[in-house]
Formats: sequence, C-alpha cells, structure tokens
Amino acid sequence: MALKDLPKYRDIRKSIRKNGEFPIVGTAVKDTHVIHHSMTKQGLQGSTPEGFANTHIDKNGWPGIAYAFVIMPDGTIYHCNNLDLRTFHAGDTNTRSIGTCLVGDFRKDGAAEKPTAEQIEALYLLNKELYKLLPNMKRTIGHQECPGYSWKNCPGDTWNYKDVIAGKGMAAAKQTVLEGWKKENSKWYFYEAGKKQTGWIKDKSRWYYLDSAGVMKTGWIKYKEKWYYLNTDGSMATGVIQDKGKLYYLNQNGSMAADSKVNVILKAGKDGALTP
Ligand SMILES: [Zn+2]
Repeated sequence: MALKDLPKYRDIRKSIRKNGEFPIVGTAVKDTHVIHHSMTKQGLQGSTPEGFANTHIDKNGWPGIAYAFVIMPDGTIYHCNNLDLRTFHAGDTNTRSIGTCLVGDFRKDGAAEKPTAEQIEALYLLNKELYKLLPNMKRTIGHQECPGYSWKNCPGDTWNYKDVIAGKGMAAAKQTVLEGWKKENSKWYFYEAGKKQTGWIKDKSRWYYLDSAGVMKTGWIKYKEKWYYLNTDGSMATGVIQDKGKLYYLNQNGSMAADSKVNVILKAGKDGALTP
C-alpha cells in the first residue's frame, strides 16, 4: 500500500495556499510522527487545511500550513506538505518529525469533541503507512510530549491516541469515542468502553461513587451500612472533614468513624488555630 491507496486520501500539495517554502531537511532525519488536534470545532468553516494554511500564513507569517497531513471528521486525509520538509508544528521537534492534525477540539475543558471513528481509522492507517514509507520512523507522540510543549493540551484529553496507533486501532475506535468523565445535563458520568459505569470507581488514584443511573454523587452517601463523604468534585474524602459546623473522621477507606474513639494529631499554626 502507498499513501495514495489510503481510503479518502487527497493530495493537495500543489493546490494548497503557500507563501514561500519550508526548509528541506530530507526524510532520513524523520523518526517521529507528531499528532495534533486543530483545537477548532469540527464542521466550522475554517476547520479545513485551507483555513489552517490561512492562519499559519497570515497570523503566524509561515510559508504555509504547518501540518503534513490533516484528517477531517469524515476520514479524508489531506496531504498538504512533502515529507522532507521542516515545517513549524512542534518547535525543537520540527526537523525530525512529520505533523498530522485531526480536525476537532479534543479538550475536555474546550469543546470536548472526540475524533470520529473515521478519523481514528484514518490516523491508524496513515501512521502505519508512515513507518513503511520513512526508513527511520520509530515513534509516534502527541504534540504535548514534544520538549517544551507539556503545557499544551494537544492532541487533547478526550481521547487516547496511543490506543489508536497501538493497533487496538479500529476496534478501539468506537470505544475511544466514549471513555472517562462526561458531563451531560449538568451531571457527571464515567464511561468505560462506551458504557456508563455505576458504583465505586477509581480514577487517577481517587475514588468516586456513581449511583445506579451512573450519576456522580457528592456529599454524604450510605453504602453497606457505612457513611462516606464525597467532596464537591466527587472524590471520596478521608481524614477529618467539616460539614455544617461539625467535624467528622473518615477512615482511610473512606468510611465514617462512628461510636468510636479516633486519634487525630492536631497541629497548631502560627495563629494558634488547630488543624488535623
Ligand atoms: Zn498541536
């Protein structure tokens, strides 16, 4: 298979707007495939290779679009730049890398979109093809894994590109669509493999409780005859908490200590106030 045999592959290298040339560095130095999201919503007028080219030329003053490939929500793969160029998409990683951008805003605290199944399939196939095509290709990383970009939520946290390229690939595509926390009608739910979870779940080493409808609970809950307290972010509290002016002690497993003696070490601050 060649690039041109990828489903919905479109070569626009000759037609896409340019305003100069990116430096040619050859393909032997290319050992990294960097994944981006466009951070623009899917379906917006400017969420296209042409739109990104306009921004990169007019706003950034670059010779053209920064990405070698743009993957549209319908799975179309636009080939925008030759693979031997150093385009400006990942700072110090530019020389050694090829940049691919999936159209969408995949930030939980942004538009919280997710790649479509078509985009995931296209990325999986394109990535595989780049390893065949480029002799020294050896890793695929997200933009935020490039040195200097750890602050950047790219390619977004609503999906896991590693699952996609690891070849869970297309089978994982539909699962990836619903994974983790999702807010619906101002209630929080937690998805695994596309299914709403219920009961206790652990996420990033914290416990949460989801009722039988999957809704994340906050405040006091009674579970198996024991009381637990869930913070306003849903995470289970331990240790001393204050609620409506009273102090409570929650064991390390979260259950409330009742009718028992608890030993809490208090620390006096500079102002004399005691805290656990
Ligand atoms: Zn990026």
